[in-house]
Amino acid sequence: MSNKATVSFTHLATAPYAPRAELRDALGLTGCEVSINSLPAGVAIPFVHTHKENEEVYLVLEGSGDIWLDGVVHPLKAGDAVRVDPSVERCMRASDAEPLTYVCIQAKQYATPNVTRKDGIVLQKEIQWR
Ligand code: ZN
Repeated sequence: MSNKATVSFTHLATAPYAPRAELRDALGLTGCEVSINSLPAGVAIPFVHTHKENEEVYLVLEGSGDIWLDGVVHPLKAGDAVRVDPSVERCMRASDAEPLTYVCIQAKQYATPNVTRKDGIVLQKEIQWR
């Protein structure tokens, strides 16, 4: 596996990939799962779920809808970010007016005690961009 990977995901939220495309294999991810999801207007995920040990972050790219968390409905709109503990029961739906497109990032809870700011190493290098 290469030490880097790039894939365009803009097409993944549309047919024939919709409603869900996972980037784990495409990018060779080893520490998290990233998926692109699209729910048509008026459509909800047909199940409620929890996780054993993974927290999730939902990043709403386009549209609007709701996320149901342990029985409480929270409105969603483009630009919103929601973090959900593994044990929280969850479901999502698109509004009746428009589709809901979002990224879901899933990673083991407490797996990254070194936040990016502490994990990154600044190197003294000059880069020739072109
Ligand atoms: Zn999940």
